[in-house]
Amino acid sequence: MSGAAVSEGAAGGGAAMSEHVDVLIVGAGLSGIGTAHHIQTAFPGKTYTILEARDVIGGTWDLFRYPGVRSDSDMFTLGYRFRPWLKAKAIADGASILDYVRDTAAAGGIEAHIRFNHRVTRASWSTADARWTVEAVHGAETVSVTCNFLLMCSGYYRYDHGYLPQFAGIEDFRGHIVHPQHWPQDLDYAGKRVVVIGSGATAVTLVPALAQTAAHVTMLQRSPSYILTLPAEDAIADRLRKLLGPQRGYAVARWKNVLLATLLYQLSRRRPRMIRNLIRNLAIKQLPAGYDVDTHFNPAYNPWDQRLCLVPDGDLFRTIRAGRASVATDKIATFTEHGLLLESGAELAADIVVTATGLQLLALGGAQLVVDDRPVSLPETMAYKGMMLSGVPNFAFTIGYTNASWTLKADLVSEFVCRLLGYMDSRGYAECVPVNDDPSVTGQPLLDFSAGYVLRSIDQFPRAGSRSPWRLGMSYVHDVVTLRHGKINDGAMRFSRRATATEPARARTA
Ligand SMILES: Cc1cc2nc3c(=O)[nH]c(=O)nc-3n(C[C@H](O)[C@H](O)[C@H](O)COP(=O)(O)OP(=O)(O)OC[C@H]3O[C@@H](n4cnc5c(N)ncnc54)[C@H](O)[C@@H]3O)c2cc1C
Repeated sequence: MSGAAVSEGAAGGGAAMSEHVDVLIVGAGLSGIGTAHHIQTAFPGKTYTILEARDVIGGTWDLFRYPGVRSDSDMFTLGYRFRPWLKAKAIADGASILDYVRDTAAAGGIEAHIRFNHRVTRASWSTADARWTVEAVHGAETVSVTCNFLLMCSGYYRYDHGYLPQFAGIEDFRGHIVHPQHWPQDLDYAGKRVVVIGSGATAVTLVPALAQTAAHVTMLQRSPSYILTLPAEDAIADRLRKLLGPQRGYAVARWKNVLLATLLYQLSRRRPRMIRNLIRNLAIKQLPAGYDVDTHFNPAYNPWDQRLCLVPDGDLFRTIRAGRASVATDKIATFTEHGLLLESGAELAADIVVTATGLQLLALGGAQLVVDDRPVSLPETMAYKGMMLSGVPNFAFTIGYTNASWTLKADLVSEFVCRLLGYMDSRGYAECVPVNDDPSVTGQPLLDFSAGYVLRSIDQFPRAGSRSPWRLGMSYVHDVVTLRHGKINDGAMRFSRRATATEPARARTA
């Protein structure tokens, strides 16, 4: 892999010299590292750099340090397609996932391409130069790098703070209030009464972990979620690996889990009552006799209207059965000095309150896109194949599935970008841009998901469209067909060569 070149400044750069790379990746999390692997494998001759706001690799899997932090989807699908997950646990702890991402970066020599402490704030495209100028804050400086293709792997939420609803009386509480996104590593919860506010993946992970030493843990939820037990270790995957070897065993286990998850998702959409009853009956079997399952574990919405929570080996249910944790389904009237007063009139005494109240969504890591001096308003753009933006050239972003493991989509996005770059290189194109000129395509939310954190900020995100290639298929199998094997020149993607003095007009091909 050749290094970055120093070149004449591009758009907005005047005569200043700025660094130039073929491909610029923003973010060194699970997606950014995977993308770098795909790019350098497909194009050993291309230069690339990763700009990362933090001082470490790993993104989510480094940031979240709360007790018990783990995946809530299996590692055969959360792992990269190109790098088998070799550990026994299919539902893995955060530290192992972080190691996996770091090891991938180290094994591929990707680390050397990462510029840490570079927060990208602005990227502006110049059609005349057919390149991006990307600005990043690095300490007191603003650094600028130009590139031919820009890939945003910046995740989907704010790193500086999570979501905290307004709680009455919160200032009166004399105990500790902790947000899982900023877990104090020295917090001593042994022997303490802990209330975890929330009912999502983080809450159901935290409760059994805290309950190991806490006096008691109460999960306080406004409304229940669907919670499904999964074996922490996947016996079939283990057998496949023994039988077929690590690489092939992993590939088959990955497809097995894709198909099982797809089946569960499709059945949830088509036969919601059947799946609701199935999940409810499984919960009944794991809870103490006479437990009020319908109040605490039977949601008002249908399965997969929001993300399903997985619990490895039923740890949450086991903890409740052991009496170390309980669930309260109620609303908070106010915090008090010693805990929480609920709308039902019940009181929860607490030494520590954990606000597992979610994330604050953030599109494109908060960076402003500009195309030929015009700021891009994201809600006015339409997402092409859930990974590029209408009217924004030579640009892709990675947002994973909400109904399956993130990396399944992340790998496909990288593969598609590699095919796209190969197509352009072989035909001498400098620019590609998705264009929606079909008036019958109507806008839809990018994430078809009713979770609170999505509804709170979805209007700041690009829209999806009602029809292919703008429609957001949340189906891996469909995306394998279209992204890995579909036509690159599909009519919506327009290509052009760089305009020269003798060829002022751009040769756009539909
Ligand atoms: C607690 C938790 C558990 C999860 N569990 C699962 C799971 O089990 N399965 C699943 O499929 N998904 C899960 N997710 C979703 C998860 O975020 C993805 O699986 C995956 O980690 C996303 O990787 P990413 O690299 O795209 O984003 P991130 O992990 O968020 O990494 C983004 C990186 O980009 C950097 N960055 C952001 N903005 C900028 C900027 N402007 N300039 C420079 N750098 C920037 C960040 O610092 C970070 O390093 C979970 C999320 C959370 C919060």
